[in-house]
Amino acid sequence: MAIKFENCMGSQPLTYVREVLSHFDFKKPPIPVEEISDFIGLKIKTVPNPKPNSAEAHELLTRVPCWLDREKHEIQLYERCPRKRKRLGIAHENNHYIIPYHEGLNPFCPEADDPTCRKHTEQEAFLGGAAMMFYPKLFFPDALSFDRIGIGAVEKLSDRYDGSIEATANWYIRTHPKICAVVIAQPFQRKAVQNGDPGTMKLGLDLRHSKRVKNPTPLARLPRKFADYGMNYPLEVKYAIRSHRFPKWIRSGVGIPETSLINQCYQADVRMSGEVPAGDLGSRSPFSYTAECLPFGVNGSRSVMVILTLPDKQQNFGFLTPTLGW
Ligand SMILES: [Zn+2]
Repeated sequence: MAIKFENCMGSQPLTYVREVLSHFDFKKPPIPVEEISDFIGLKIKTVPNPKPNSAEAHELLTRVPCWLDREKHEIQLYERCPRKRKRLGIAHENNHYIIPYHEGLNPFCPEADDPTCRKHTEQEAFLGGAAMMFYPKLFFPDALSFDRIGIGAVEKLSDRYDGSIEATANWYIRTHPKICAVVIAQPFQRKAVQNGDPGTMKLGLDLRHSKRVKNPTPLARLPRKFADYGMNYPLEVKYAIRSHRFPKWIRSGVGIPETSLINQCYQADVRMSGEVPAGDLGSRSPFSYTAECLPFGVNGSRSVMVILTLPDKQQNFGFLTPTLGW
C-alpha cells in the first residue's frame, strides 16, 4: 500500500487487519492467508530454498519461510518449510504490504515470527500476522469457550486455526480477558564473566559462599555481569507475554532455579502442572501462580512453555475485554 494520507489509519497494525478482513466473511477457521494475499494484490511464488553454502544463506534457510518482493508484488515462499511457519510467514508479509509506512523496509526479516525481535516494524508485522491467522472475530469466542485457561485450550486452538503451538499460545494469552501469562523458558545462555572468576563480584565477594545463593530470588534479580548463576539456574526466561490484567512484568533473561516446577518439567521432558512461586520468575512477591508446563522443541532446541494463571476476584470481566466488537 502506498504512503498516502488516505491509506494511513494510524500506527496500530490491527486497524489495517480489521479493514482488510472486513471484505471477507470468514465463518470458520483456518483462515486462508493465501486468499488474503490475493485480495491485496500479492502473488505467492514457491521458490527453492537458498543453498546452504554460506552462513547468511543458512540463516535464511532456517529462520525465514518467505520474503516480500515489492517490485514484483510477490511473496517468494521457500518450498522446504513447515506448513504452519509458511502460514505465519505469509500473514506476516501481508501485513508489511498493507501497513503503508512499511514501504521501503529491508525485505528480509530474520525475526519474522520471533516475539523477542526488537525492531518495532517487525513486531507490528508479527502482531498483524497473528491477528490475520487468529482472526479475533472467530478466535475470541473460541478462546472463551474453554472452561479453563491452559495448554489443553492452546492445543485445540492450534489445531483449529492451523498455527504453531507457540504462536497460538502467544495470541491466546495476549487477547485473553482474564489474568494469565505465557512464559517460554530456555536453557540458561551462559555468558562469559568479564571480571575475575566465575561467581565472584568486582569487590571480591564470592557469591557461591554467600547466604544469597541459598535464597534464589535476590540472586536471580542480579544483572548477569555480577554472577555466574548457571549452576543454580539451569533455565532462563526467553520471553513472557501477559494478558492485559496480569499484574507482574516478567523480564527476559531472568534465571529460573533448579528447584522450580519449570525445571522439573524440562528435565523429565513430560508435561506437568502445579504451583510456581512468583520468586521463581524474579519477583519478590510472596504469592504463587497456578502453572501448566509443556516441554517442546523449537529448531532442534528444547524449551518449556509455561501458562500461568491467578484467581480472578473481579466479576463482569466482559467490560475489560479489549477485542470486544471485533
Ligand atoms: Zn518482517
